[in-house]
Amino acid sequence: MNARYDIAVVGSGFAGTLLAMIAHRLGHSVVLIEKGTHPRVVIGESSTPLANLLFEELCVRYDLPNLKPLAKWGSWQRAHPEIACGPKRGFTFHHHVLGGAPSIDPERRDQLLVAASPHDEIADMHWYRADFDHFLVREAQHLGVDYFDRVALREFEEEENGIRLRGERDSGGVEFRAQFVVDATGPRGFLHRALNLGENPLPNYPATQSLYSHFSGVGRLEKTEFSRIDGEPPFPIDDAAVHHVFDGGWIWVLRFNNGMTSAGVAATDKFAAKLGISEGATAWQRLLEGIPALRAQFANARAERPFTHMPRLAFRSSAIVGKRWALLPSAAGFVDPLLSTGFPLTLLGVTRIAEIVESAWGAEHFGARLEDYARQTDRELLATARLIGALYANMNRFDVFVELTQLYFAAASFAESARRLLKPQLAPSFLLCTDPQFDRACEEICARARQRLSDAEAIALITRIHEAIEPINVAGLGNAERRNWYPIEADDILNAAAKLHSSRDEVQTLLKRCGFVCEPAPDPAAMA
Ligand SMILES: Cc1cc2nc3c(=O)[nH]c(=O)nc-3n(C[C@H](O)[C@H](O)[C@H](O)COP(=O)(O)OP(=O)(O)OC[C@H]3O[C@@H](n4cnc5c(N)ncnc54)[C@H](O)[C@@H]3O)c2cc1C
Repeated sequence: MNARYDIAVVGSGFAGTLLAMIAHRLGHSVVLIEKGTHPRVVIGESSTPLANLLFEELCVRYDLPNLKPLAKWGSWQRAHPEIACGPKRGFTFHHHVLGGAPSIDPERRDQLLVAASPHDEIADMHWYRADFDHFLVREAQHLGVDYFDRVALREFEEEENGIRLRGERDSGGVEFRAQFVVDATGPRGFLHRALNLGENPLPNYPATQSLYSHFSGVGRLEKTEFSRIDGEPPFPIDDAAVHHVFDGGWIWVLRFNNGMTSAGVAATDKFAAKLGISEGATAWQRLLEGIPALRAQFANARAERPFTHMPRLAFRSSAIVGKRWALLPSAAGFVDPLLSTGFPLTLLGVTRIAEIVESAWGAEHFGARLEDYARQTDRELLATARLIGALYANMNRFDVFVELTQLYFAAASFAESARRLLKPQLAPSFLLCTDPQFDRACEEICARARQRLSDAEAIALITRIHEAIEPINVAGLGNAERRNWYPIEADDILNAAAKLHSSRDEVQTLLKRCGFVCEPAPDPAAMA
């Protein structure tokens, strides 16, 4: 291969492919290099309002109209029903005592439902990555990105004027030359190995593992003991990222519209050892036996793929950029699937790298901008690990766990609203970790939450959390009267307009523009 490219993107997951398309749109020659072939199954499936908004912003800014419908459930279903996905109306949490009898607390102290959208049309999705990533790669090729799959890259060599990537394809040698390399190969990926980058620890974060698969024949949770829930939940509890939390870990269940369901467990090393997690299918079955609702839900389920055991989940690279290379956030680090933070972090990284390529390519300050990107990426990873570490410490104390999640929901809904109001400067970082006041509060709260708390200390901590989120709370969070069910209410954001430096009218216009109020579908008879 003699061609010389401006940019080589290694790894054709959604993030690498998206960045390759953007760089091409910006006028650069781009090669996208993949070790496997599409379609292929990968994990990491549940999107969020912020992730979808970032995705949509990228589609608009870089003129990718074929991708834009994939930013919302309704437009996705109309434009690309052939690409499997699942509806995600919010986040469902249930707390369990393993081995306990089936029970539902009438006061809802063992559950938390946080809506992410008011109705299906503008809901989020679980991306069935085999279809989703394949579609993106075909689009990239269609746009003119050179794509090579089945490439086993071995070497990265930096020269005066660029870099060379060498490896094998179809048992022959291959070489790619480029000015710059973006690594989108995920944790402990290509450059991590080729450059021996090493890992940095995530401070105060527990060692965790994971076990997961894709299943057919999974029933609905709402048909188990949860059918006895009193009242109308803010969204169907299964059309969500469902989290089952217990002392030592948690289970996710994500449903797709092709009959498949993604499910797995993330747990501390201690719990994983007790469960015998490395045994795979039998460990999974043992875990289900301890949770009657899941046992019922998975009674007729079949694992459609061999179980994957990840002996180490979290990761933090010791370096994120060099003179001629950058790791996307998903290659620079990972914490845990809890709260679906991977996509927004990755898409923030794609947005930032795209912006650097757009505004600083070939300029003297290109390197300085990359350094800023690296600092921001690492800081956001640490802020995520700080919160999720505190959540792990409270999986046996659900009242505190619930309130800790409000730090995430408050920051995420504030960031989404600010961006939708075209005021991204109000929320320039994930979890608002560059806001000194909120960051200091999170530091203090998470440090306290990692300790064993008396009841009085837990109450004081919860009060502190409510104080901390108050200036950014645009979603009515922490309201005891809602008893852990948080629908999306227009009044919450309207009443919080000033926190977003906006008037009620501006917020009203925003709600209309983003489809908050569901317009009735056009009547075909009237149209005829
Ligand atoms: C168990 C688990 C569950 C998760 N769940 C969620 C979730 O629900 N929501 C969420 O937001 N995030 C989740 N994440 C994080 C999410 O997976 C990542 O944020 C997301 O996949 C990043 O996408 P990507 O395109 O950057 O990388 P990936 O999806 O990891 O894709 C990397 C691509 O690079 C290719 N590749 C790898 N090595 C090489 C190489 N040497 N040469 C060439 N190609 C290579 C791979 O084949 C693959 O195609 C989860 C992560 C894990 C581990």
